[in-house]
Amino acid sequence: MKRDAFWRVERQRFLSQPAIHPIPISMNRCPNISSLLRKARHFIGLATTATATATAAATLSTSTPSKSAASAMDDLKTLKTRLCIIGSGPAAHTAAIYAARAELKPILFEGWMANDIAPGGQLTTTSDVENFPGFPEGILGMELTDRFRAQSARFGTEIFTETVTKVDFSSSPFQVFTDAKTVLADAVIVSTGAVAKRLNFPGSGEGPNGFWNRGISACAVCDGAAPIFRNRPLVVIGGGDSAMEEANFLTKYGSRVYIIHRRDSFRASKIMQSRALSNPKIEVVWNSVVMEAYGDGERGVLGGLKVKNVVSGEVSDLKVSGLFFAIGHEPATKFLDGQLELDSDGYVVTKPGTTQTSVRGVFAAGDVQDKKYRQAVTAAGTGCMAALDAEHYLQEIGSQQGKSD
Ligand code: FAD
Ligand code: NDP
Repeated sequence: MKRDAFWRVERQRFLSQPAIHPIPISMNRCPNISSLLRKARHFIGLATTATATATAAATLSTSTPSKSAASAMDDLKTLKTRLCIIGSGPAAHTAAIYAARAELKPILFEGWMANDIAPGGQLTTTSDVENFPGFPEGILGMELTDRFRAQSARFGTEIFTETVTKVDFSSSPFQVFTDAKTVLADAVIVSTGAVAKRLNFPGSGEGPNGFWNRGISACAVCDGAAPIFRNRPLVVIGGGDSAMEEANFLTKYGSRVYIIHRRDSFRASKIMQSRALSNPKIEVVWNSVVMEAYGDGERGVLGGLKVKNVVSGEVSDLKVSGLFFAIGHEPATKFLDGQLELDSDGYVVTKPGTTQTSVRGVFAAGDVQDKKYRQAVTAAGTGCMAALDAEHYLQEIGSQQGKSD
């Protein structure tokens, strides 16, 4: 069996194991499976460099487990390109598909467990994606990301499984650094995504004693419709717009939705607050924090929470089947080291209606510049915009095929 096919079968086997995934919920059943598989694939030497092939498969190039000194030296090299794309989610790959079809020969750094997320991005941590057009039956997040990657590779994107550690946007060509390479690029697209923040208390994590993905999630829009939440009491933690929006959204499925907030007032906009507060299915638990999550015994999923009132100190029991964190996201922008303008939450600022950042020739797409919509299809949409913006920019500065490479 070909190695690539072998891993696909292994992944499928993991995902369908009842011992690991006891319930058929429509959320990330085991977020680290994809990560582990990609990691394992890396360790046996398959994932060092993925070069574009003419085939549709996202086949990773093969190298031997112990590299020769010569090939190790070869990795420490400088490459030139017209366009470098950083990231590997729907934004990065859509940008790559457009750019590669425009014959820009993009180089894409997909990251190596950057921010603990496998190449492919946030969708690798979920199971069924049911709202991406073109898949009426839904599609596994991992399979969708494999397809994105295959399509990028098919048109000639050169993909490296390396994390960008540093950039220098002070002069053109821009410099993009990984531990093994320096890329000189006439234009850059930053599409490194964002990670939903989570709280850490007993029972909140993964593994046998935790209920992450067995009732606990950080994305109501993605997971709220799962059968385990239907007609059951649910909780949202947070007091911002996301918490209001998610609580309202969850009232479509849950019997009751509690918003647990650590203070006595929301920071959410007035309109979002009043929508939530006037919803008869929503109840606010003010001045409170979750101390612990416990199971329901029979089903091995979330059964309830120990909740502490931070004013009185009283600890009470709240029986719920779902808990959704809505305490903000963290965009992956640290490696930019202040070279692009960021907003107060750390998101890349783009000129409205475009993907242009504060540095001419550097573009941003996907969740790294979007704190409102944060969906695969919107990330893909801005990825397309970034490629078109980059193409126009390259034409303007007279960057031509062959000039830089
Ligand atoms: P991401 O998907 O965040 O990918 C960014 C990638 O860049 C990551 O792989 C990261 O490791 C890599 N990276 C970061 N820093 C670097 C670096 N320095 N160098 C190289 N690489 C780097 N949306 C939907 O539309 N439908 C759904 O059903 C859905 N379900 C979801 C379920 C879960 C559990 C989660 C967490 C999200 C879900 N979303 C869903 C949201 C969707 O996944 C995101 O909106 C989308 O993936 C954002 O895409 P992106 O391209 O901006 O970046
Ligand atoms: P915010 O940062 O606005 O809110 C996060 C909330 O989580 C705050 O209420 C905060 O509490 C709470 N929180 C943070 N850390 C903890 C913790 N450790 N324990 C308990 N609670 C915690 O994030 P959002 O995702 O809600 O919003 C991000 C941005 O996106 C905002 O600008 C928002 O306006 C925008 N947005 C807009 C939407 C819309 O217009 N439809 C929808 C969603 C988001 P505290 O208040 O005490 O700090």
